Amino acid sequence: CGIFAYLNHNVERERGHILEVLFNGLRRLEYRGYDSSGVAIDADRSSRNGTAREEGGGAPPPYAVAPPLVFRREGKIESLVGSVYAEVDAMHMSLDEQFLVHAGIAHTRWATHGVPSTRNSHPQSSGPWDEFLVVHNGIITNYEVLKETLIRHGFTFESETDTEVIPKLAKFLFDKANDGEGHVTFSQVVTEVIRQLEGAFALIFKSPHYPNELIGCKRGSTLILGVKELSAEDSVTTSKSKELFFSSDVCAIVEHTKNYLAIEDNEVVHIMDGNVQILKFDYSKEKPASVQRALSV
Ligand code: GLU
Repeated sequence: CGIFAYLNHNVERERGHILEVLFNGLRRLEYRGYDSSGVAIDADRSSRNGTAREEGGGAPPPYAVAPPLVFRREGKIESLVGSVYAEVDAMHMSLDEQFLVHAGIAHTRWATHGVPSTRNSHPQSSGPWDEFLVVHNGIITNYEVLKETLIRHGFTFESETDTEVIPKLAKFLFDKANDGEGHVTFSQVVTEVIRQLEGAFALIFKSPHYPNELIGCKRGSTLILGVKELSAEDSVTTSKSKELFFSSDVCAIVEHTKNYLAIEDNEVVHIMDGNVQILKFDYSKEKPASVQRALSV
C-alpha cells in the first residue's frame, strides 16, 4: 500500500546509502498499513557472480547492466531490512560500492489478491532475469483476462497477485516491439502496458534494459514526484546533479525536498539523466495522443 523510488543522477552515493533512502521511504509510508515489503536495487556484475536469480533463465539477456537485486519479505519492514543486510553479507557484496547513477524501487504491500507471502510481495517480476520489475498500489480489475492471454503466450506465473500481469505484459510488448529492427523506448513500453490495464493503480517500472531510468504512472491512486537539485559541492562532474523520488505520499519526500508535484491520471513520468519527461495520454483514442507537461516543481 505504499510506493517509494529513488534515482540519483550525477551524485556519488554508496549502495548502503541508497538502501537506507529506500528503507526510510518505506518507514514513512508504514502508517498506511501493510503486510509485506520489498526493494529492487542495482548491482554490478562482479558482485553478482554466482548469485543471480538464474533459475531456468539460461544465459542472461544481452543488456548493459547486471540484473537487479530483488529482496522481498512478508512481515515488518525491519525484517526486510535485516534480511537484505544478511543477504548482502552472504553475497560478500560491498555496501560501500559507489554509484553515480542508481535507480531503486521499494514497496509496502497490503494484499488484495493473493495471501501475504514473500512470493506475492512486490516488486513483481516479468520472469527469469527480472527484465521488468513493477511495484504497484491498487487493483487491476482485468488481470484474469490478461493473465490467460499471457499464459497462452508461454508465460509462467509465480504469484497469485493481480500485479504480476503488469511486468509480464511489459516483457511481452517489449519483445514484440523489438522483433523488428527498431529499439522501443521505456516510455513506449509502459504507455502500451497501461493502455491495456483496467482498475486503479500507481506503478513504478524498473528494467535492466533501461538502466538508470525509472517510470512512474497512475490512474486513480496517488503518486508524487520529488525533484531535489543539488549544489555544486555534491556534484562529481560539472553537469547538474539531481535526486529524484517517487512516493505514494509527500510525507516520504519532504525530508529530501520541498519541490514536488502530484502526477495526474494517465501521465507517464520518465526520469533519466536527471531529466524528467511527463507525457499525458488520452487513452480514449485509438492511438493515444500525448501532450507534454512542463516541469514546474
Ligand atoms: N493488488 C496488489 C496486490 O495484492 C497491490 C496491493 C497494494 O496496493 O499494496 O498485490
